[in-house]
Amino acid sequence: MFTDGERLHAFLYQTQSLLSIRQFTFDMNCRVTQKFISPNTAFVNLEDYTSGKDNVPIMLVNEIDSKLPKPFDYVTERIPLTSDIVMDKESIKGCSCLDGCIDTTKCACWQKTYDGIIQSHYYEDLIGSLKDLFQQSIDIEDDTIDHTEEMRLFLYDALSKRNFGYKHGRLLEKIHSGIYECNGKCKCDSRCINRCVQFGLNTLLQIFNTSEKGWGVRTLYDLPAGTFLSFYAGEILNDEDANRRGTEKSMGDVYFTALDFITSLKPTFLQKKSKTSQSDEHMSMLNEDHQLTSNELYNLQLNGNKQPSTEEKHRGLSNYDSGVYVMDAHYKGNVSRFYNHSCSPNVFVQNVFVETWDVRFPWVAFYTTSSIKAGTELVWDYSYEVDTVENRVLHCRCGSDECRHRLL
Ligand SMILES: [Zn+2]
Ligand SMILES: [Zn+2]
Ligand SMILES: [Zn+2]
Repeated sequence: MFTDGERLHAFLYQTQSLLSIRQFTFDMNCRVTQKFISPNTAFVNLEDYTSGKDNVPIMLVNEIDSKLPKPFDYVTERIPLTSDIVMDKESIKGCSCLDGCIDTTKCACWQKTYDGIIQSHYYEDLIGSLKDLFQQSIDIEDDTIDHTEEMRLFLYDALSKRNFGYKHGRLLEKIHSGIYECNGKCKCDSRCINRCVQFGLNTLLQIFNTSEKGWGVRTLYDLPAGTFLSFYAGEILNDEDANRRGTEKSMGDVYFTALDFITSLKPTFLQKKSKTSQSDEHMSMLNEDHQLTSNELYNLQLNGNKQPSTEEKHRGLSNYDSGVYVMDAHYKGNVSRFYNHSCSPNVFVQNVFVETWDVRFPWVAFYTTSSIKAGTELVWDYSYEVDTVENRVLHCRCGSDECRHRLL
């Protein structure tokens, strides 16, 4: 009997168990064996909508009528549409840990995540106060000593104590500056605590007809807070193709997600900025009925970003072109294309880097914000700002008590 994650992880690691800590929870409210069974009659009931293409089956039910979603290719990866879209996979580095990366202050991959936090404008206040603490702890009289390295280690230690990043396979708090998972160049293996998104879908979900909002996704079992659900799969488009597809009358840009993590880092993108919003690596996904053109989408992204920072030089952004790429899940995609918006979300998005550190191409990953009961719809906040796109009004139908009533 294990009562804490630390010991359980150590046990699984030492016994080289095939079980992962992601399969366990210490949340006593989480009923692990109770499956959601809908009281309604289903007109459509598919055991695996993905036809075996995803890690685990994804059910699809329609309790409203006998329709299915419009057909698309179910894929579990990100596919560049054109050959000019090349991810930089060369400059990625691995760590040399042999402890499953449990000492996060020594792991080069965790350090990469911590460096992102240290350099991010989002965490300015936190890092500032930690630096003050460090200053108080050293002998400031003697200015012949260079404390840079010492301070770096002090910050890593402080950040690890604050539990930034995965904790026993779960992500309890969003890291706005991105997460760098361990990768193929690392010495650690699949038991490492810094790997999650790369294993893909691992929970049993069900696509269902919500009637009000079109198709949606619900969980068939209780999920603890911080559980990874899925990442956004589909085609990666450059702006030209995104614009072309967006204006094609037959489809509109209904399943677009902008990969604009880079705009949260790069000041030159923000010159048109007029307001700030809650989210700095702002994303967009438009569900059916929400017909925005690509230009409007881009303006929304730009308006929605936070204050510029001086991170460009630290993060080597000048090596990359300035394009914002778009994920399009219209023709090719996975379960992530079906998540709806809510003003009271139970899912958050996290930018994660796995096989590339190219800031233009983060994996857009979805995690639960809190523990969620079986049968609950999984929804996230698209975080648009009302009146940021001219002549556009988009009413929200999320039905939550905190509903802002308008998406745009
Ligand atoms: Zn490591
Ligand atoms: Zn690593
Ligand atoms: Zn590792």
